[in-house]
Amino acid sequence: MPTDNYIEDALHIKKFEEALGSSPANVERKKIEVLFLDIDGILTPSRGRPADIRALAELVMLSKDPDSPKLAIFTGRQLPYLEAFCHILGIEVPSVCENGGIIFDPRSKEVIYNPKIKKEDLDILSKLKKIISDKVLPKYPGAKIELGKEVTISINPPEHEDIKTFFHKFVNDRDIKDIIGNKFSLTYSASAIDISPPDINKLDGVDYVLNELLHIDIKRVGAVGDAKNDLIVLEKVGFSATTSNGSDEVKRAVTYISNEPDARGTIDILKKCIELNKKVFKRVTSQ
Ligand SMILES: [Mg+2]
Repeated sequence: MPTDNYIEDALHIKKFEEALGSSPANVERKKIEVLFLDIDGILTPSRGRPADIRALAELVMLSKDPDSPKLAIFTGRQLPYLEAFCHILGIEVPSVCENGGIIFDPRSKEVIYNPKIKKEDLDILSKLKKIISDKVLPKYPGAKIELGKEVTISINPPEHEDIKTFFHKFVNDRDIKDIIGNKFSLTYSASAIDISPPDINKLDGVDYVLNELLHIDIKRVGAVGDAKNDLIVLEKVGFSATTSNGSDEVKRAVTYISNEPDARGTIDILKKCIELNKKVFKRVTSQ
């Protein structure tokens, strides 16, 4: 029986054939139209190691295959970093930064602030930033607030401190517990703790792009992420994948795990998407 998770089914050939037993129109809907990529850990290695420029160039060439999904980005990073990556990779699909807080359209250069974010949330966030900087960070030498964020706060752990360990220390810190309460979303990527306004996360940003700008069902897109803050998207899309450096909880949640790390793994995942899209196309044209 075809299910909503048709792309997941497609990875198992038997189920894939069953899923294709329906009308060509139905089959056409099964193509992966857009592939959302995280940056840290997916397009680049974690902080402190250089990006594999050759692998990124290869990814761009591969994305020109007629059966390739269009590439988009969903990152926790700030807008200028997203804009630079869109420019380098030739991305034209609206993309997401600051963990869903900001949407950027590379073609028009339009910047959209997530409409769910209220002015008072930003005021509180700004006060929160000051308190973290003055009272909390001095307890964790080497930890830093990332510059350039507008609607979220990201904190990099001290060097050599594991992010998961730092996250647990941070959320249990008395000063943090007192000021954050349950009002803000707290999560982490491979390199930072992210504090966002209530109910803002990467899925919000992706949903905005798909529903308001592209008008594509989320089951027709794929996503590649490596950390906890990506899970909310990976659990919803039609095709989800991670690279060999993805966290264990992400590996448990996705459809496909590449044996290669970061950009090399992303090339492997894009090849898998193209292969799946070619199968769908063959089936449509042979009917
Ligand atoms: Mg990441």
